[in-house]
Amino acid sequence: MACVLLTGGNGYIGSHTTAVLSERGHDVIILDNFSNSGRDVPDRLRRLTGKTFPIIEADIRDTATVTAALAEFPIDAVIHFAALKAVGESEADPLLYYDMNIVGTIRLLEAMQARNIRRIVFSSSATVYGQPDFSPIPEDAPTRVQNIYGRTKLVMENLITDLARTGKLLGAANLRYFNPVGAHPSAMIGETPAGVPNNLMPYVCQVASGIRPFLQVFGSDYDTPDGTGVRDYIHVMDLAQAHAAAVEHLLANDTAFTVNLGTGIGISVLDLVHAFEHANKRKIEYKIVPRRPGDVASYFANPEAAEKLLGWKARLGIEEMCRDAWVWEAKRGGINDV
Ligand code: NAD
Ligand code: UDP
Repeated sequence: MACVLLTGGNGYIGSHTTAVLSERGHDVIILDNFSNSGRDVPDRLRRLTGKTFPIIEADIRDTATVTAALAEFPIDAVIHFAALKAVGESEADPLLYYDMNIVGTIRLLEAMQARNIRRIVFSSSATVYGQPDFSPIPEDAPTRVQNIYGRTKLVMENLITDLARTGKLLGAANLRYFNPVGAHPSAMIGETPAGVPNNLMPYVCQVASGIRPFLQVFGSDYDTPDGTGVRDYIHVMDLAQAHAAAVEHLLANDTAFTVNLGTGIGISVLDLVHAFEHANKRKIEYKIVPRRPGDVASYFANPEAAEKLLGWKARLGIEEMCRDAWVWEAKRGGINDV
């Protein structure tokens, strides 16, 4: 069993990974500055798992504090979630993104080096593929970043790969997530987007709960089976399991790798709307509106490498994703007839 530090462990994907690692018998330490996560999450995790996870409240860029804190625990590996993740904001404030994501990662790696912690799992994104030539996308497809957020992900991937190549890190995993959705089936933890959601599933949930009157479907004239945008949605619990598998793989093997984390199944906007209606018996009103600038028509993963290397594959389908996303949303909103 390992002791794993999760930067951003209080956030959406980090909190689910905390629950899964704990269930698999690992000790979890959380490092988070609470800039994008609730103060209630630690207590929710405690009620969910029956365990209290130590929390280092710090910014990853604060090397002195982070280095001192890392000395307090026998950490075997780090999973690095902490980052800013809004594409639009990255284009509006490039320096903020370069500083938080790239400088922050360098500072974290320095602190790890000072404490001889030499294994890292990194949260990358399928956004590094930009407009792919085809789907399913394999890991050796060209990277074509289209915005500053994506560029920071690619720089961080390269940084981590270089440290592994030069022997500074013993183990490194770059995990390229496709579209994470859903919540823990207990509905005790989930995603809490601030303001109007940009992403499809949280928006659909808010239409279901009556917060928004209808969904705007951004374009129905794409070259896809029903004309709406196609993505590879992955249940956050499957994603969390993949992190546990990656960390366990790095602890057993000195190796560096980059893998896609997706289901391999392309789901259109209207497929998701219909799956949501079917799973939750709620009508989702929608209107077709013009395309959202910068959107790619279709992309989905080739997830075979992760299965081959880690013995991991996504198990939960779109209905489970819609069900768990809705139960979380409804419970938070005090809707009881779910
Ligand atoms: P999130 O915002 O819910 O979680 C990030 C956590 O990191 C938050 O708890 C936040 O308070 C913390 N944090 C941010 N900056 C910090 C800093 N400088 N120091 C310490 N803590 C800091 O995001 P998420 O959706 O859980 O995403 C986790 C990671 O996965 C991110 O790196 C993100 O870029 C990546 N990712 C997310 C998605 C997605 O759709 N959610 C897709 C692909 C990749
Ligand atoms: N989408 C939509 N209406 C919304 C939000 C998203 O039609 O309110 C579409 C979007 O055009 C894309 C898909 O849903 O085809 C997924 O969008 P999301 O922002 O969730 O993920 P991303 O585009 O970043 O992969």
